Amino acid sequence: MLYQPTQDNIGFVRKVRRGLNGLGRSKKCCVCGKTFFRFSKYRGGWKAFSAYLHNQKWVGSDFDQFWCPFCRCHDRERHLLLFFGKLDYWKKMSGASILHFAPEKRLASRIEACRPARYVKGDLVPARGDVERLDVTDIPYAAAAFDWVFCNHVLEHVPDDAKALREIYRVLKPGGIAILQTPYASGLEKTLEDPAEIDTDEKRIEFYGQEDHVRLYGRDLFERIRGAGFTLQLKKHAECLPEIDASRFGVNREEPLFLCVKPQTDV
Ligand SMILES: [Zn+2]
Repeated sequence: MLYQPTQDNIGFVRKVRRGLNGLGRSKKCCVCGKTFFRFSKYRGGWKAFSAYLHNQKWVGSDFDQFWCPFCRCHDRERHLLLFFGKLDYWKKMSGASILHFAPEKRLASRIEACRPARYVKGDLVPARGDVERLDVTDIPYAAAAFDWVFCNHVLEHVPDDAKALREIYRVLKPGGIAILQTPYASGLEKTLEDPAEIDTDEKRIEFYGQEDHVRLYGRDLFERIRGAGFTLQLKKHAECLPEIDASRFGVNREEPLFLCVKPQTDV
């Protein structure tokens, strides 16, 4: 007789595994503070991703150390929390006006705790009641309305990313900061986007890394961001967070912080 797992014993097995994992001390989540043996992989981890993405040197999430097994935060949230702490950004968010696209849950909670004067969360397809329906290519807010815009892991999904960048720039105040974390391939000079050839989920996963990505950015991503008017600073993990062991804290040491500033002179 075949063993047929039920929802109940699947849940039990998971709980036991998580409990055993929690006995470890080698990894630590900076969001929930728990320690354990290993983070959870995303879709089978790095080895499940295509040779093309490996060869082009994908820089984005760490697929081998993706979810915290306890609070389920993503590696990119952990990395942002570490960067923001180091750069003393939480204090600056107090009383500020903030627009947050595709809001990461734990990052959003941390921002709310800073008591911003205005905090708008938006998504093209809102999954929660506190998130507005917002199109990043047509933002229904006045120019210079926000001190901060967070728009992480969004541009690679947006067909007209140049328009999205122009809109983010428009709604920022002069001197305002946009954080635009975006996966790219450091070995690729020019962005790969070919909707005529790369036209199935399988091909998009192979070449873009995910079925709902519309391109694989190359190093010209930086010029695209600057082309919208931003001053772009890529803050490297090694320089900004030298005391943070990326492997222990489950973040990708190759992923820089995309710090995009609207120049003060642009009024
Ligand atoms: Zn956690």
